[in-house]
Amino acid sequence: MGRSAPTAMRVVRYLGSSACEVPEVGDSPFQSMIAAVLRPLDFAARDDFAKLDRVRDLERTVSSAAERAAALAIPRDAKDALARIAKSFSATAEDDLAARMREAILALRPLAEPEWSERQLASSTAILSGVGPKRADSLARRALGSVADLLFHLPVRYDDRRSLQSVGSLEVGIRATFVARVLGCAFSTRRGRFRGRVFEALVGDDTGTVTLKWFRSGDSISRQVRKDALLLITGDVKRYRFDKELAHPEISVLADASSEAAAIGDVRSVTPEYATPEGIHPRGLRRVIASAVERYSDLVPGHLPADLVAKLGLPEPGEALRDLHAPSIEVDAAELAAGATPARVRLVLEELYLLELGLALRRAQRAAEPGTPIACKQRTAIAARALPFALTGAQERALAEILADLARAHPMNRLLEGDVGCGKTVVAYLAAVAVAESGYQSALMAPTELLAEQHEATLCALARAAGDAGGLRIARLTASVPGDEAARIRRALAAGEIDLVVGTHALLQESVDFRALAFAVIDEQHRFGVAQRAALAAKAAHGNAPDTLVMTATPIPRTLALTLYGDLDLSVIDELPPGRAKTKTVLLRAGEGQQVVELLREATARGEQVYVVYPLVAESEKIDLRAASESAEKIRAAFPRLTVDLVHGQLDAAARNVAMARFASGKTQVLVSTTVIEVGVDVSNATLMIVEHAERFGLAQLHQLRGRVGRGRAPGTCVLVARGSSEDSEARLRALLETTDGFAIAEADLAIRGPGEFLGTRQHGILPDLRIADLTRDVRQIAVAREAALQTVRRDPQLRSNPELARAVQSRWGDRLALVDVG
Ligand code: ADP
Ligand code: MG
Repeated sequence: MGRSAPTAMRVVRYLGSSACEVPEVGDSPFQSMIAAVLRPLDFAARDDFAKLDRVRDLERTVSSAAERAAALAIPRDAKDALARIAKSFSATAEDDLAARMREAILALRPLAEPEWSERQLASSTAILSGVGPKRADSLARRALGSVADLLFHLPVRYDDRRSLQSVGSLEVGIRATFVARVLGCAFSTRRGRFRGRVFEALVGDDTGTVTLKWFRSGDSISRQVRKDALLLITGDVKRYRFDKELAHPEISVLADASSEAAAIGDVRSVTPEYATPEGIHPRGLRRVIASAVERYSDLVPGHLPADLVAKLGLPEPGEALRDLHAPSIEVDAAELAAGATPARVRLVLEELYLLELGLALRRAQRAAEPGTPIACKQRTAIAARALPFALTGAQERALAEILADLARAHPMNRLLEGDVGCGKTVVAYLAAVAVAESGYQSALMAPTELLAEQHEATLCALARAAGDAGGLRIARLTASVPGDEAARIRRALAAGEIDLVVGTHALLQESVDFRALAFAVIDEQHRFGVAQRAALAAKAAHGNAPDTLVMTATPIPRTLALTLYGDLDLSVIDELPPGRAKTKTVLLRAGEGQQVVELLREATARGEQVYVVYPLVAESEKIDLRAASESAEKIRAAFPRLTVDLVHGQLDAAARNVAMARFASGKTQVLVSTTVIEVGVDVSNATLMIVEHAERFGLAQLHQLRGRVGRGRAPGTCVLVARGSSEDSEARLRALLETTDGFAIAEADLAIRGPGEFLGTRQHGILPDLRIADLTRDVRQIAVAREAALQTVRRDPQLRSNPELARAVQSRWGDRLALVDVG
């Protein structure tokens, strides 16, 4: 593997210009500068040096290019080799030029290979000066095993030591940097439990004094901190009795010169602070990172398209790393704190670009697999007309996208996202009609028995409305279906006498055979793993992957969805059917319990049903369960005529299902639960949702809970009872009062809690793998990276013209995204 041989055109152009080269895409500054040295050498050496005298100024050109390359932040041996070449070509010596050229070419060739740089970056930290095998081991155990790991271990924050405070203005609880003179210092001895020698120094300036204390290493400190010494001091200001003090501050002794101002000027800095793993000294970590940056940063290649880099005015990755690890004294503090410096943007975009390329390639690979074309649409049109309502614009759009996918000879992989009750099931139903008309079968998989039953009821009603013309033959196959009935359904499925089967995991059993399965609808994807999807694919017609539609009611902001579910295409239903009664949201505080009781009384008096939800916190499961059961008892005591059920996480699934089913059928009026209410459960007679300890829930979760009520004709009410609050939870609860738009709420939730929290404990493949980008902070960069990646694959779907880029994507994301070899 190597880059294409330089063409004569390029050489001539190079020789004609003296401007500093801008690295080509995929090159590091080091590689492009090495190339700049090699190119004229290679050209002049051609045909056994036949062109030697046609190259003007060869020696000067080579020498100055080598000199520039030697100045880069690169490993010592490469630096030395380049310096030697610079020197040997600097004087027009009389000896054999060809021999010197041969030697230079021989030395540089291996360095020019991208693999050389890759190997250097991947090498153990032990190659850094000051890192021995023991240290390297200890770093490696903490996920800092390679030079690249150190380079990309970016500071988590910066200590801005540029604006110096005066001693008099120090505030307790604030980290400060200031210059002060030592007025006196001494050891003192402490008695009691914390016995030992303490080194103390009283320092001050014109505005006041403050004490510094060292409980350890006093001896070595005492050698630097002497009376009259001028110190630059950084540390956290604490209160001690009536005074302020700093324990173990960072200090540097300033040249105790007359030119105090100049001395201070020298030490003002913006100092990086790193997340320091347990067992590693912060100062030591800072030092090894600095040494990695100094010797290796210019080996880091950039992959972003050159026009994008130019348009955004971004630095090379090496320069970006230097800017982030050692910010210049002029850096914009606000930009730095917000992670919005060009340096960080460059690295974030580099990372997201590779990710988005990986996702695009994955999508393309899946879309190229063989599938079953489903082209018939007549009965779908009839079935749509037979509905008792008109589809919303958003439903029409989603349906059109799905039908277009179905018609292709490749499998669909699509996410259908929309708030509870926005009409996703209807859309899936209409698609299933097209599948049946084309002679194939559909399967809808729900996470629970109860949801499967509800889906079946909904679908059967829709099918009846359309009559024979659009009608589907629908069956349900779940654990609760009696054995002989289940056997009959399995036979009918195998014979092709059922068009749409609704079920749970049970559908994946080996005993279930389809005659011609081509369309799989999966409700709430997070409960289905990759293995289960594969099992389903194995049952599909002709052994082709079925068209797959994943439905989710979790509103995920579009940009995030496109990345998190980046291997799926996305259809969004962002519109509720007209005429829905709005659910009212009320925020109550502890102590306003009487109002809750009143609302409960009113709702049940109208014959409507009520949910009462308690949070479930893993560590205190017992306590929360007690709160929930006490609440159930209280309601029973206050309303003896009501039936009250309690559902919680310690019940097994079957018992939970029974309780849910009792509620769904109206046998119970009040359902008290810890948060196990099934997503998607549809009890149209439930109109009151009471959420206890609302401050402990995430916004998206609260929104989902609120979506459980107001699903029928009667308007719903959601009561959020806040017991204790923080600024955060206040912000969240207010956001919920202000809007009912699930997507707006998801955006707010994401901004407040970050994507990890937002997605809950759900395992997610991509998040933990991002090294630099932060999907909350960098939503804008996601869009930029995504657009760039799409353009790249549009031009070159397999990245054939850029094997290094293909390799970078493969090595970074290949495993994670199950990419078949690209490039
Ligand atoms: P989702 O699956 O998104 O939760 P459903 O498809 O179950 O939503 O629809 C919820 C309810 O709204 C159902 O009773 C359905 O019949 C009804 N519905 C769906 N689409 C419309 C529409 N365009 N106009 C009126 N009602 C609709
Ligand atoms: Mg539904």
